[in-house]
Amino acid sequence: MATENYELNEDEKLLFEKIIAGDLAFHRIEEVTDPESAVKLRRFAVQEFGKLEFEEIQNFSLDVETAGKKNIENMIGAVQIPLGVAGPLNVNGEYANSKYYIPLATTEGALVASINRGCSVIRKAGGVNVRIFEDEMTRAPVFKLENLDRTKKFYDWVKKPETFSKFKEVAEKTTRFGKLLKVQPFVSGNYVYLRFSYDTKDAMGMNMVTIASDAILHLIQDEFGAEPISLSGNMCTDKKPAAINTILGRGKTAVAELTIPADIVKNTLKCTPESMVQVNYSKNMLGSARAGALGFNAHAANIIAAIFLACGQDAAHVVEGSTAITTMELNKYEQVHCTVTFPALALGTVGGGTGLGTQRDCLNILGVAGAGTPPGSNAKKFAEIVAAAVLAGEISLIGAQAAGQLARAHAQLGRGKF
Ligand code: NAP
Repeated sequence: MATENYELNEDEKLLFEKIIAGDLAFHRIEEVTDPESAVKLRRFAVQEFGKLEFEEIQNFSLDVETAGKKNIENMIGAVQIPLGVAGPLNVNGEYANSKYYIPLATTEGALVASINRGCSVIRKAGGVNVRIFEDEMTRAPVFKLENLDRTKKFYDWVKKPETFSKFKEVAEKTTRFGKLLKVQPFVSGNYVYLRFSYDTKDAMGMNMVTIASDAILHLIQDEFGAEPISLSGNMCTDKKPAAINTILGRGKTAVAELTIPADIVKNTLKCTPESMVQVNYSKNMLGSARAGALGFNAHAANIIAAIFLACGQDAAHVVEGSTAITTMELNKYEQVHCTVTFPALALGTVGGGTGLGTQRDCLNILGVAGAGTPPGSNAKKFAEIVAAAVLAGEISLIGAQAAGQLARAHAQLGRGKF
């Protein structure tokens, strides 16, 4: 490893003394030196404060300048997560129509193997059908009105088509790509929440819709005089489990489907169609209902988290993704008809962490890095692949539980030797 990672030069030593003395704050170091040195100086200071020596944090290939501009503050290094692939996964979508190796960043032993087994079932059964039903990212500011009469007048004003046209005009001036699709008002006493929904094309869109909604908020203040309390009033709802997202959708609303013939269930999953259906009903349906869960699935979050980490997505959006519903039913040919419904998949192929080197490499594995032609097509393709990969994971795990293999697989692949 380069010695410059482990030693300070003379200029850096002077800055280091200032940092240790409390005369130079961590977040101001970039103002007096280059980004590489700033990262190193903070790392040395953290070592000094903790009386420790890092062995690994300094070893990374990330471009510090790119990351520091939009992805991280007070950077000191990088953590690495092992990256594996499962596949090929056959996807029959409207945007993704091929075989894909799925990049998965995880420390959970057995996860990649499990998804890989699901991909094998999917290949034999002819590929996963996927369709996207809705595509809209939301932001919901909250306004406080003086009394009930003003609250009702505000609500009625917001619902007028001419008001929506004004909202659309100011919102779309803030972005080349974003389109305001609708606004849904919700009332609570004299507070009104306006849930704005946007088509954000290839961007996941949270920054985009926040900036656009801020412009609308100012228009409302000027034209109606409603007092904005917060640009986000939590009816969006971002990064919290919420029924509103499972009912109205957020990001992509998608469904993946596969019909598995009985012989494939028996030969590949080592269980029977009936046992899969039984496990899915008692676990994903009944057990989830009894537990008061918002997600009715086996481990959708596992697959989504591993793909999101690999592909530069906002990892907190695993929350929305985890509310998927997995169904398994016997059809009249004794085949298992499986679906996974995603009310709220928040993802993108531009913006956020998608431009970082290793994350971009992973998006390239799927052929979805950057902007699509037409705009939005890459993010939709990515969403279809994620949906299909989750179905692979669901089939494999339900199959393993139906065959009574879950503990054995984890003991073999997840425990290793300590
Ligand atoms: P972003 O990195 O802020 O910006 C993406 C921008 O890329 C778009 O706004 C657009 O610029 C441009 N762009 C170029 N080609 C495009 C295409 N084909 N389709 C769409 N846009 C295209 O990304 P973001 O998706 O809006 O926001 C994601 C980031 O927000 C993540 O880092 C996430 O962690 C963070 N986040 C923010 C909040 C918040 O409240 N602000 C909440 C949660 C997460 P123009 O709009 O200028 O045309």
